[in-house]
Amino acid sequence: MNTENMLDYTFSEDQELLRITVREFCNREIKPRIKEMIKNRKIPAEIIKGMADLGILGMTIPEKYGGPGYDAVSVGIVAEEIGRADPTVSIPVFFLVDNAWSYLISKYGSEKLKQDYLPDVVKGKKIIGIASTEPNFGSDVASMTTIATKDGNKYRVNGEKSYISLVRDIKEIGGGYVTVTKTSPEKPGTSGTSLLFVPFSEEHFDITYLEEMGREGSSWGAFKIKEYNIPSEYLIGKEDQGFRIIHEGFEFARGLISVISAGAALESIGRGVEYMKQRIAFGKPLTKFQGLQFQVAENTARMETALDMGYKALWVYDQEQKYHKFTRFQVSKEIAKAKLLSTTWAFDAVNDALQWQGAFGYSKDCPEEWALRGIRSFQLAEGSREIMKQIIARETIGKDFI
Ligand SMILES: Cc1cc2nc3c(=O)[nH]c(=O)nc-3n(C[C@H](O)[C@H](O)[C@H](O)COP(=O)(O)OP(=O)(O)OC[C@H]3O[C@@H](n4cnc5c(N)ncnc54)[C@H](O)[C@@H]3O)c2cc1C
Repeated sequence: MNTENMLDYTFSEDQELLRITVREFCNREIKPRIKEMIKNRKIPAEIIKGMADLGILGMTIPEKYGGPGYDAVSVGIVAEEIGRADPTVSIPVFFLVDNAWSYLISKYGSEKLKQDYLPDVVKGKKIIGIASTEPNFGSDVASMTTIATKDGNKYRVNGEKSYISLVRDIKEIGGGYVTVTKTSPEKPGTSGTSLLFVPFSEEHFDITYLEEMGREGSSWGAFKIKEYNIPSEYLIGKEDQGFRIIHEGFEFARGLISVISAGAALESIGRGVEYMKQRIAFGKPLTKFQGLQFQVAENTARMETALDMGYKALWVYDQEQKYHKFTRFQVSKEIAKAKLLSTTWAFDAVNDALQWQGAFGYSKDCPEEWALRGIRSFQLAEGSREIMKQIIARETIGKDFI
């Protein structure tokens, strides 16, 4: 990174105000309803409406389409606050997927696609998901088999996507998926790949729901798409060049995951410390034992560092997206560093905070039990930790030597 790109991601007054407003919303509307959400396995509709009323859905969507046009760092601030409020990370997942992938439509979608979807995303009446993974591939995008065949002014889509977040939410509320397809299957590797917006359709989607390890308020599943005609205006970016732009969506999502994981883990550490202050063992509070103090210190140091890295990565992303101040490769590396360390450290921090709470920590009443299962998903979703290492290694060693 050269010095003319000096880092400056100090929060503005507006951003500080945004944080306070969102924190108040989370304390009032989200925190009291987490147990209800876990029991019903669904994000309460009032929370989604409340987020829309607050202007935190489709946050990067420009004013022309009814959005507030925020930058990625501001979206990160909201993501962190929601991550702190919902240890199951269900609401953060809804927030990050919808925000990251609606951004890609704002940037590369046709006027028709933007008019058709973006105003409703801002109102919480449509949700945008990402459908990349298939039963036989995840990391290896070149192996994809979902095909979009051009037929006049339409694409005919056939294929199957699996392990996809928000499937029930999108079916019930409306919306669709930024879908990774092959438009020129004869071309090698990822070169014949396109991104197509595929709206949910009762008629053309055959859904199988999957049960997640955590994230109880979210939904997950697979779907087959059969003979579904999509208007060619729903192509995102250029035909056969989807692989060039898909990373911009993944990187935004990964940056948000970094700050969500750090925020959630810092809350877990805080709850664990409060528990240890109250719990007496061998005649004194648990916080008096240096072995436990050092665990608090190490986890705090890691998670505060991870939070900084997440904001730095989102800032670098903003600078590249708006002013081309960094290269795409520099952005990929900064984002991958933040996601790798934040999600790995967060899982360890939550695990320690659970341990500090003894048997209670292992019970279904303990937020750390929810958080441990939820946070674990982030070492896979939106790009696995091994793929983050591949990106960092490629940029550090050089692609000709790996
Ligand atoms: C909770 C959750 C939600 C998800 N939501 C979505 C979604 O909304 N949309 C979507 O499209 N996908 C979604 N996914 C899928 C996710 O993107 C994939 O799980 C991820 O990309 C890894 O792909 P895979 O599961 O097929 O694993 P594989 O690619 O089969 O890999 C298996 C393991 O091997 C490792 N591996 C693979 N290749 C290499 C290599 N070259 N070197 C070293 N290690 C390697 C991987 O990191 C992984 O640990 C979700 C996954 C989870 C767990």
